[in-house]
Amino acid sequence: MMQLSIPLNFIGTLYREIKQGLADIEAMFAVLDVPAEVTDKPGAPPLAIREATVRFEDVHFHYDPEREILKGVSFEVPAGKTVAIVGPSGAGKSTISRLLFRFYDVSAGRILIDGQDIRDIQQTSLRAAIGMVPQDTVLFNDTVAYNIRYGRQGATEEEVREAARMAQIGEFIERLPKGYDTEVGERGLKLSGGEKQRVAIARTILKAPPILMLDEATSALDTHTEREIQSALDQVSKNRTTLVIAHRLSTVVGADEILVLQQGVVVERGKHEDLLAEGGLYASMWERQRAVDEARERLRETVEND
Ligand code: ADP
Ligand code: MG
Repeated sequence: MMQLSIPLNFIGTLYREIKQGLADIEAMFAVLDVPAEVTDKPGAPPLAIREATVRFEDVHFHYDPEREILKGVSFEVPAGKTVAIVGPSGAGKSTISRLLFRFYDVSAGRILIDGQDIRDIQQTSLRAAIGMVPQDTVLFNDTVAYNIRYGRQGATEEEVREAARMAQIGEFIERLPKGYDTEVGERGLKLSGGEKQRVAIARTILKAPPILMLDEATSALDTHTEREIQSALDQVSKNRTTLVIAHRLSTVVGADEILVLQQGVVVERGKHEDLLAEGGLYASMWERQRAVDEARERLRETVEND
């Protein structure tokens, strides 16, 4: 037992130190998940954002040369629009978000932002232009205010509050005895998944990036929380180029375009109504999810009425 518990403890400590010491949540993702070979070209200029159009052109990608994960993915997110990616687990959805962040380079094809190949520009400028709301938000062991202000270090108290309100978490925080000074994380208040995600949204509202990358949580949220999160996301994605890996029906229905990804191939694309009318994979996924949601709500009502 001793032999096992010492190294585990050590790893835990190390992990916490890495977590606290990093300048950036995204950098942490990079440390945990990414080989170091993605580097800036000598003299690479910063990304010049004009309108923030994102384009994937015939993108191929493999982690392991034996197994291609993306097999020629092409799409465009026009400036200010929202494109949703849906599809079965393992289809390659999160891989698309990692490539846009340039945690990895494409194996073939290219990714362009306002016509600039993301391999030709400074990575720091790329990551500064993209706001990431991940599936699982990592909070610092610090105050709520610190965790929100992290989006923009110079933000005033009033700006932090405003962002929290827009993210539908302001009232919740203001009801806490210590309000914005409440400590969260391992030694402080434990927030639910939905609350953590709204803190991440508040942070992103402060960062105000031209491009948004959202990875919605797959876990079931109750209808009320889902509505609150959706309204927070609507706030942050309004007039911003948004790529969302979507699990919630409310997000998918409102998207300007939906891509259905299956085994690394876009098998269907279009607006919600068109895809439903096609009666293909999307239509069957949608029916199934709606049935599950209805059953879940009925169960919840039964429990609440008891
Ligand atoms: P999705 O988000 O659609 O569920 P992912 O993009 O996470 O799918 O993964 C697509 C495929 O790539 C999966 O088969 C997964 O196992 C594989 N994969 C993901 N990350 C890695 C990695 N770092 N190394 C090797 N294979 C990976
Ligand atoms: Mg995923």
